[in-house]
Amino acid sequence: MPARSGDQFLKGLRARNREIWLGDERVDDVTTHPQLEGAAHSLARVFDIQQEFADECLMPDPETGEAINVSHMIPRSVDDLKRRHRGLRRIAESTVGLMGRTPDYMNVTFAGFAGERTAWLGPEGKNEEGHDNLINYQKLIAREDLSLTHTIVHPTMDRVKDQSFATNPVPLHKVGETSNGIIVRGARILATLAPFADETAIYPGLPLPADAPSTYALSFALPMDTPGLIFLCRDSAATVGSNTFDHPLSSRFDEQDAYTIFDDVEVPYERIFINGDIDVYNSVMGPTAWWANIMQQTTIRALTKLEFAYGLALRMAEAVNDNSPGTIEMLGELSTYVEVTRSAILLSEEHAYDRGDGVVFPDGRPMHPMRAMLAVWYPRVREILMLIGSHNLLAAPSRAMLGDARLRPLIDEFMHGANGMEAERRAGIYRLAWDFIGSGLGSRNELYERNYLGSAKTTRTHHTMLYSDRDSATALVDSMLTKLPD
Ligand SMILES: Cc1cc2nc3c(=O)[nH]c(=O)nc-3n(C[C@H](O)[C@H](O)[C@H](O)COP(=O)(O)OP(=O)(O)OC[C@H]3O[C@@H](n4cnc5c(N)ncnc54)[C@H](O)[C@@H]3O)c2cc1C
Repeated sequence: MPARSGDQFLKGLRARNREIWLGDERVDDVTTHPQLEGAAHSLARVFDIQQEFADECLMPDPETGEAINVSHMIPRSVDDLKRRHRGLRRIAESTVGLMGRTPDYMNVTFAGFAGERTAWLGPEGKNEEGHDNLINYQKLIAREDLSLTHTIVHPTMDRVKDQSFATNPVPLHKVGETSNGIIVRGARILATLAPFADETAIYPGLPLPADAPSTYALSFALPMDTPGLIFLCRDSAATVGSNTFDHPLSSRFDEQDAYTIFDDVEVPYERIFINGDIDVYNSVMGPTAWWANIMQQTTIRALTKLEFAYGLALRMAEAVNDNSPGTIEMLGELSTYVEVTRSAILLSEEHAYDRGDGVVFPDGRPMHPMRAMLAVWYPRVREILMLIGSHNLLAAPSRAMLGDARLRPLIDEFMHGANGMEAERRAGIYRLAWDFIGSGLGSRNELYERNYLGSAKTTRTHHTMLYSDRDSATALVDSMLTKLPD
């Protein structure tokens, strides 16, 4: 099947009888549920966009020639990466970067896995079967144009004991075997996009300790309606029954996050990518190049959101003619984050390299620091928007107030902006900003940016352990160390 339309995506969601829980109910149809339908239709729009902007978003499947989304590309040149960049940017703009896990996130992830053959083959090629399953699966999601959620993190129950896997029955693990596959039990976090996914993917986030039982070393993918798969959504951050003037973002872009429970779930053998092999599990998580590959998608998404935040700050300052030194400085801080992020993406693309087998991934060096930096910049971005917006964020009449015959002349008289800005435009700007930073979705989005690639603490630790170039730094020091005379 070639790349889908929005209607086909929504039909696919309705076709699967998944166990999605939200609030006090099991959701019957995610496309019509009041707290989910806004995001379902925004994601449908993402599928429509790929048809409308086919020259940017689609490419021919290398084997069948059918149109598939460009995010499934296994890049083979810098030009390929630039082509993919245009498609990813188009998708990110449709949600101004607010939906972090639009399907292109997992598409690029699996394209990276499929391009990173040696890692998934494992030491001495011992994971050939899992590797072949993964290659087939990557083709399947590209050709069926599936939407995936994923969980790569073990739940936190006890920070002291969680790493003692031998005595910890909570993390997802294998409990049995059938003629068709394996039985798994346990839990994982945190399945963003779960209500809007066709399939869920499980793969390693961090290495397992050497003494962990091999039953915890698993990677696979399953349809969302597989018996025993249960998704517990967090409380909705969607604004229900509203309009896009009052709540332009929270009425459309709550992508949801769900705790995932596997209640004795059968995973068919052909869907298993790692089956109880810690060496393979941990080697996949080494300093492999696919991290840099997915960072292209997610940093383009984050850049779009940073640019949106900067644009919001500019419009808020304009609305009240705020040229104060403090605001000018904060605007400069925002544009700094924007340009450093943009530079990291461009540099990683320009310095992309052939890994030796014709697959060209972005250079990871500018990308890995972004994992930690975006997590600490975003809370500051939110703070700057609050400081620039100030009380004006809370003095923005609703669409109904603006439409009221008695109120409207008073609002025009008393709530307009500077330099002739009309009250309606001013209200629209501040309502948009408040929905971005002050709504339930605004709070969730800060937690997202802090954690979605792992906490800043963990990503910085990773950088020290796996990615940093220590040699040139220590060589400088050594060059200045005076030798004692013999
Ligand atoms: C809004 C939101 C959306 C998210 N969406 C997704 C998603 O779609 N898919 C997904 O998989 N996750 C998702 N996450 C989860 C995210 O990956 C975790 O929240 C993140 O890793 C931070 O977890 P933590 O606070 O436990 O941080 P950390 O302290 O960084 O710990 C992360 C995990 O690593 C373990 N850990 C920490 N240090 C080590 C170490 N040295 N060695 C081995 N293990 C270690 C911890 O026990 C924990 O399980 C999301 C999180 C949020 C907040």
